[in-house]
Amino acid sequence: MEKAKKRIGILTSGGDAPGMNAAVRAVVRSALYHGMEVYGIRDGFVGLKSDDVSPLDAGSVGDIIHRGGTILGTARLPEFATDENVRQECYATLKKHRIDGLVVCGGDGSFRGANVLQHESGVNAIGLPGTIDNDLAYTDYTIGFDTAINTCMENINKLRDTMASHGRVSVVEVMGRDCGDLAVYAGIAAGSDAILLPEMRWNDQKWLRYIVTKLSQSFGRGKKYGIIVMAEGIHMQPGMGHFTVDYIASWLNHNQGSVGHKVDARGSVIGHVQRGGSPSSADRILAARMGECAVDALREGKSNLCVGIRNNKIITVDITKAVSMKKKVSKHLISLADILSH
Ligand code: ADP
Repeated sequence: MEKAKKRIGILTSGGDAPGMNAAVRAVVRSALYHGMEVYGIRDGFVGLKSDDVSPLDAGSVGDIIHRGGTILGTARLPEFATDENVRQECYATLKKHRIDGLVVCGGDGSFRGANVLQHESGVNAIGLPGTIDNDLAYTDYTIGFDTAINTCMENINKLRDTMASHGRVSVVEVMGRDCGDLAVYAGIAAGSDAILLPEMRWNDQKWLRYIVTKLSQSFGRGKKYGIIVMAEGIHMQPGMGHFTVDYIASWLNHNQGSVGHKVDARGSVIGHVQRGGSPSSADRILAARMGECAVDALREGKSNLCVGIRNNKIITVDITKAVSMKKKVSKHLISLADILSH
């Protein structure tokens, strides 16, 4: 009798990120190439619960490499973490479709879900890091991060044009609740005067002193305008709810003397456009390399791993270990940003 083909599933979960489609395409085409069957699960773990599962062929992932978002949809199913019955419904779907390997593309919450699923159902799970936040410590980069940096940089370029024309200061909020990577990378790429990171845990007075110092330096060397980049996580910290980009802009406008220069500041929030857009070449190539690695791991019968990149080498790390690692912002990049904005 002919041996049944290995059958794997793929889902995208949690917050979406540009390049998730490129990752889905890479997994589907690599798996088909190696004689496996692939099933797409809609809306993350929600599709497992509701049995929203269908086969994917090579054509079904055509014309998606350049699209942001995810053709599989994404959603959150908090009960997956808390309700054993919900998880059993999900495992029954995997069993029904004879899926013995699952690729989960998402952030650390989705990886925790994959970890539980692996241990309870026995289905081999492999994680692909899909998040614009770059907040997973085990990998240098996540799929979607590079595109989000470019989106921030392009938006700040536009703000810079108008700030330069009018001699204004722009205080710009970018995404990043606990992780300031997007603010640091976008801040350096956009040539900002100051970068405010959630990891620093400074209070409002300390941040204002820092902004005043940096703006004074820039105005002191003849610059006529300013760009300040702040990660959203700062005003989500306890006691910092008031510390928004508009608050900072208004404070600067009312405390011009402290900067020693006329200041006309405006706040801008880049917002959800950061999550979308056509993925950059770097994200597409990262998704291709990581997707192939996920399929190779499943072919070799490996499980409970997540795929990452370190020093430009694709690696795998145990999911349990990966989700317990604490992400640190690069001290070198912080100091470089400071040096370059002198
Ligand atoms: P992200 O993957 O972007 O970090 P979430 O944190 O919202 O997004 O997680 C996505 C989904 O992963 C959740 O809705 C839930 O179904 C599942 N999940 C998150 N945390 C856990 C957990 N500790 N145990 C099991 N499943 C989890």
